[in-house]
Amino acid sequence: MNFHILTLFPEMIMNGLNTSIIGRAVNKGLLSIEAVNIRDYAFNKHQSVDDYPYGGGAGMLMQAEPVYLAYEAIAGKLAKKPRVVYLSPQGETFSQKMAEELAKEEELVLLCGHYEGIDERVLEEIVTDYVSIGDYVLTGGELPAMVMVDTISRLIPGVLHNDVSAEFESFQDHLLEYPQYSRPEEWRGKKVPSVLLSGHHANIEKWRREQSIIRTKERRPDLLQKCVDNGLLDKREMKFLRELDENIE
Ligand code: SAM
Repeated sequence: MNFHILTLFPEMIMNGLNTSIIGRAVNKGLLSIEAVNIRDYAFNKHQSVDDYPYGGGAGMLMQAEPVYLAYEAIAGKLAKKPRVVYLSPQGETFSQKMAEELAKEEELVLLCGHYEGIDERVLEEIVTDYVSIGDYVLTGGELPAMVMVDTISRLIPGVLHNDVSAEFESFQDHLLEYPQYSRPEEWRGKKVPSVLLSGHHANIEKWRREQSIIRTKERRPDLLQKCVDNGLLDKREMKFLRELDENIE
């Protein structure tokens, strides 16, 4: 998968993503990350890319033309028109499900805004998806773009050492992941649950599913409700949930 990031701060993107798991995946050729500096496409001698908004109001806006030229420099090299995500607090909230869908793309362009945002006309021209990372406002789209690249990349086969680890984690089936433990068996008087030391795989799986249900109920009851509504708990798990509810009442 190839990520193309349109930004005023390419070094922020490259410094942020060139380490650890994602950096190794880039070195192995499993994905590529290209940060294109929108300022390189400024059309005035001061290389400025922002201007005052028509109608007045606070702050500056990124102008349409440099963004469009930077986009064209990428799109012109590709066989077909790529999906272009504009990172914006006004977009659909990013989720694991959205990451899974986007991970199927060969090429993905991420457009980072700055200042008060970007001239609407170029957004209308090139953007296919508006994505927010949450209901709060950041100074720029770079951190949100990095969040997206990181989340999508770990779904690409070969990026994680053990591909199964991406399959059994939080948000799978709308459930949060069960608690996990590593050595030592006892730490400051706290013991690892004995079932995990039993070597009995079926019991371990059952315990983990139940712990996921308990945890999701405590921390994200909205997700658990989705899980129930979508019929993702089997008969035994539904009984377990009813017993949990009864114990609480
Ligand atoms: N005036 C804009 C508005 O109210 O929609 C906000 C502009 S914000 C200060 C500057 C840039 O940061 C945006 O263009 C966007 O790229 C990015 N940004 C800020 N918050 C974001 C969020 N929650 N998710 C994704 N991108 C965000």
